[in-house]
Amino acid sequence: MNQDNRYDCIIVGGGLAGLSLSVLLAKANLKVLVIEKKSYPFHKVCGEYISMESWDFLLRLGLPLETLNLPKINRLRLTSIEGTAVEEVLEPGGFGLSRYELENMLFKLAAMNGVTFTLNTTASVYKIGIDFFQVTTSAGIFKGKILCAAYGKHAFGNFHKPAVGPENWVGVKYHIRHSFPDDSIALHNFNGGYCGISKIENQTHCLCYLVKASQLRRYANQIKDLEQGELYKNPYLKDIFEKAQFLFEKPLTVSNVTFSVKKPIVDHVFYLGDSAGTIAPLSGNGMSNAFRSANILSECIVKYIQGISTMPELEHEYTVRWHAAFRRRITSGRLIQYFFCKPGLTRFFILIVKYLKPLRNFIIQQTHGESF
Ligand SMILES: Cc1cc2nc3c(=O)[nH]c(=O)nc-3n(C[C@H](O)[C@H](O)[C@H](O)COP(=O)(O)OP(=O)(O)OC[C@H]3O[C@@H](n4cnc5c(N)ncnc54)[C@H](O)[C@@H]3O)c2cc1C
Repeated sequence: MNQDNRYDCIIVGGGLAGLSLSVLLAKANLKVLVIEKKSYPFHKVCGEYISMESWDFLLRLGLPLETLNLPKINRLRLTSIEGTAVEEVLEPGGFGLSRYELENMLFKLAAMNGVTFTLNTTASVYKIGIDFFQVTTSAGIFKGKILCAAYGKHAFGNFHKPAVGPENWVGVKYHIRHSFPDDSIALHNFNGGYCGISKIENQTHCLCYLVKASQLRRYANQIKDLEQGELYKNPYLKDIFEKAQFLFEKPLTVSNVTFSVKKPIVDHVFYLGDSAGTIAPLSGNGMSNAFRSANILSECIVKYIQGISTMPELEHEYTVRWHAAFRRRITSGRLIQYFFCKPGLTRFFILIVKYLKPLRNFIIQQTHGESF
């Protein structure tokens, strides 16, 4: 084993959770390796609405958000299948930025701070040795004192597999040009799912929907047929699909999406972001959860590396803080998604948002947190 292949911390997955953790640990002088199966920049299925609670964190990390002239989003529009609509102020709101740009900026920031990357590299399994982990990848074997799993929704090898959720979803994304207002995000309901639209950089909007896999199967997995057969029934969606200029040749898709609380630590491996628990996209907070979990984990690891805590104390602290921050949010997000996706209940949901401000604020509080 070449000593160059030994790290203080190995992070499997260079998405938002893995990249932001890598920057924080490198700033604390740890030798960090990120294993990422793709190479930057690349697109990802996501609504690309980032809740405001991450703004200060990203500035602290070193992203020049203020210079990017990003759309600030503080209005929420909800529509039901038959076209009932409500528009309300959205607090605390958010901003729009594509994953293509965001992850590329974080990648450059991490590299600038001394993080080592092995790109186009798929991790497969890990082994636990005495005081180290050994990770086997398509680019060779790497060793690290600490192993962090930030590979997102889909587990592999002997990494922790979550219990299969009750419902399996498919995500579909487009970048479009459309006159939809810059300061708003809309969630449009359709039979078997919902579709979001909000602005990102470059006079572009992100149009992204989540549909039950069983509903897509009814259309023989043909996305265009599903859109015409179900999404077009909502007049707002029909208007968007008919009038927008579509910038991708074909939609980007992700399948086998489930929403469940997994576990923050298994076998002494630290899980963060979606690999520890996936929140329903309608909460608009999965990305902030990824950042927040990286922030919590980095604080715990740095204390351990500085000799302030032992490994059992590190594991205990991360477990307690992770559950306090995310368990309720993920469960609430799934419940809210359930109500919003039941056509009979969507109207009721919209009425709540319109007339019952305390209840609306309570729903938002269940899936959001303070800025950090
Ligand atoms: C349809 C949809 C819409 C969404 N919309 C929003 C939204 O508008 N706002 C919001 O806040 N959240 C949204 N989310 C949630 C958000 O996308 C996730 O919560 C967020 O991406 C989690 O980041 P992560 O770093 O944990 O995982 P990911 O971003 O999935 O990153 C994981 C990384 O690991 C890499 N990887 C995977 N396997 C391996 C392997 N074996 N070896 C090496 N690398 C590997 C992947 O290539 C990837 O880069 C949405 C999700 C979906 C499905």
